[in-house]
Amino acid sequence: MIRYRARWLIPVSGAPIENGVLGVSGRSIEYVGSATDAPQGDEVDFGEAILMPGLVNTHTHLELTAMRGLLEDLEFPEWIDRLRASRNNVLSDDMLLDSARHGIAEGLLAGITTYADTCSSGVALQAMIEMGVRGIMYQEVFGPAPDSRAASMADLRARVEACRVPAGDRPLVRLGVSPHAPYTVSDELFADVAAYARESGLPLAVHIAESKAECDLVCRGTGPLAMRLAARSIATPVRARSPIALLESLGALGRDTLLIHCVHVDEADIALMRDRHCGVAHCPVSNAKLGHGIAPLVEMLAAGIAVGLGSDSVASNNRMHLLEEARAAVLHQRALLRSPDALPAVQAMELATLGGARALRIDAEAGTLERGKDADFAVFDLGAAALPAGDPVAAAIFSLGGAAARFVAVAGEPLVRDGCLVRGDERVQERVASAGRALRVWHDAAATN
Ligand SMILES: [Zn+2]
Repeated sequence: MIRYRARWLIPVSGAPIENGVLGVSGRSIEYVGSATDAPQGDEVDFGEAILMPGLVNTHTHLELTAMRGLLEDLEFPEWIDRLRASRNNVLSDDMLLDSARHGIAEGLLAGITTYADTCSSGVALQAMIEMGVRGIMYQEVFGPAPDSRAASMADLRARVEACRVPAGDRPLVRLGVSPHAPYTVSDELFADVAAYARESGLPLAVHIAESKAECDLVCRGTGPLAMRLAARSIATPVRARSPIALLESLGALGRDTLLIHCVHVDEADIALMRDRHCGVAHCPVSNAKLGHGIAPLVEMLAAGIAVGLGSDSVASNNRMHLLEEARAAVLHQRALLRSPDALPAVQAMELATLGGARALRIDAEAGTLERGKDADFAVFDLGAAALPAGDPVAAAIFSLGGAAARFVAVAGEPLVRDGCLVRGDERVQERVASAGRALRVWHDAAATN
């Protein structure tokens, strides 16, 4: 057994432990408790540091990492149009794969051990396996025209069958499907994908209730997204009372459904999400940066919904750091509700770890430091900006900010040591920088035409 020792250990399943030890044997946690009672073993002492469960990022687009900073200050429909056009015209599969590798490297250095990634190209699965992290890749599917449902389904089935998911009892990496969003997927295709996911036992993720434009499209058949569909001769009837009600009517809400964003949800929607036991990926920074608004997080949590935090792509964030995301979640809720104790730090820490694991249905393996679970954990130094740290949870949420992790392990395997990637490859970063330059050249030329 290896004894990982730190000034503070935050198990999330219980109160913080001062001078704590995490005992790891192989891939599993064997001991969580005080250093004095810990069984013997080789010891790694991190000193003045916080050791916490590996952070769970419930929403990423790893393949889009090269698009960081490309699309700033745009209206959402325009942002989506430009994102898709530049990705499709510039990024090869090799570039997308490097982009995903680079995204995971960034996440690991921020203590993120689990990635729930919606991916169009399918490269994220390979990147996750190579980098040794935990995750679910939801293969995306698109098709806004009702008569394209068969072609979209055939494409989805072929992509899913082509994925090589490692077998085994407790696989680190799993596969799911993602009908992208109501403005890119017809009702017919939603229903087909939902049925396919149920038959195949695949989890499903969907971007939903994110923007006002999406609500206008679904509930009124109007607005900028409706105009874009109309320009492609796709009818835009009123589809449902709300985006969540739309998914309910199409059989897409269930235990294995991850609802991404949920900014524009009302009481009836929240009751439906609770009754269907859906998970939610809450993306406070992306929602704010794109001007969508603030999701009713406190209400969703009060309803008992499993909520995790998501960074979304760095094209809309522009970084991936879940402790910072947790801080933003708290600040937004307190400002919105004018309440100094809405979403306490303990609850925010839970969102970034156990909440995410619950939303992804992987809480039997990850999300807390508990005996028998996989040893996914991250260590952050309590540097000058985080000391004194009388309350280690408040320090982690409010003071660590975008700090780099010192040590990170997934299923017992160290992936970051002394703040450096164990499996790092500097050439990936160079290639991503070069892809970023190519994107900018193409984008600037397209913008002037
Ligand atoms: Zn997204």
